[in-house]
Amino acid sequence: MGTQRHAPASSGAAPGVGTAAADLHCHTRRSDGMLEPVDLVAAAYAAGVRLLAIADHDNLAAYRELTAHGASPLPDGLELVPAVEINSVSRDRSLDLPEGELHIVGIGVDPYDEAFEEAIAGQRNGRRHRFAASVVRLREAGYAIDAFLPPDVMESDDALGRPTLARALVAAGHAFNVQDAFDRLVGAGCPGYVPRVGLDPAGAIRAIRAAGGLASLAHFPQAAERMDLVRGLIAAGLNGLETHHRSFDADTRARMHSVAVSLGLTETGGTDFHGDTGPYAESHAALVMPADLVEGVRRELVGRPRATGHAGSTITAP
Ligand SMILES: [Zn+2]
Ligand SMILES: [Zn+2]
Repeated sequence: MGTQRHAPASSGAAPGVGTAAADLHCHTRRSDGMLEPVDLVAAAYAAGVRLLAIADHDNLAAYRELTAHGASPLPDGLELVPAVEINSVSRDRSLDLPEGELHIVGIGVDPYDEAFEEAIAGQRNGRRHRFAASVVRLREAGYAIDAFLPPDVMESDDALGRPTLARALVAAGHAFNVQDAFDRLVGAGCPGYVPRVGLDPAGAIRAIRAAGGLASLAHFPQAAERMDLVRGLIAAGLNGLETHHRSFDADTRARMHSVAVSLGLTETGGTDFHGDTGPYAESHAALVMPADLVEGVRRELVGRPRATGHAGSTITAP
């Protein structure tokens, strides 16, 4: 996430009624979202989305489940694209990034590419180790939370994050509330803080491209001021830019569009819906997705033989 500002819907649509025909960045319970994949699909379809990319963190499980043999059919006319979001960690401190991270969305990756699955499984493992190391550090610092963690927490990809640590710290009486836990115990530089490990931005981009995906830099509204950084990512294979994140206002979208045009990047966009701030329709209503952006993404996906929709159907040219 970047700025918290939420852009109004375009074209004078009534509040709560979105116009976007595509959403290329949203999350389910297979990472840190709140909805089951099938419920997100239904909500997006009901809102008018016909090209959908679920981009769970380091995880293609939602796509696989929704397209598995025996799964209930996708809504008529919906194209579902396999995607992931990778929170890459920059080792270059001079770049001065929030928490040292850049988020790369991979759209249209081959969901059965073994090398790619290995790469994102490595990311998931890194998260598990980071979580376990935080629990140990907290214990050693006198803030034991072992008895207050959810059962089977280590098996649950979606729970292995600092919010879970913070809630356990509150339950154990070590913090007043989640914010207090972040401020004093698990935020950057605190006793329970363990830095994220995993793919760096170039590594994430290369993994996505090698799996046939469009690699798009997500929610980075500073792009216009950080052109050298973006050019460095392009040298690693970056070929997309999220110019239409739900949180971008009209000025930001215009600036991002200029960056994409000047650098030859395919524009992408999405709600980044997680489900913790309201229903899907509300996020969708704040998403602006111009028709030419959607067509540009469709064109990009046509050239990718493994970008499949429901039941093995290939995405066809508009
Ligand atoms: Zn992100
Ligand atoms: Zn996201």
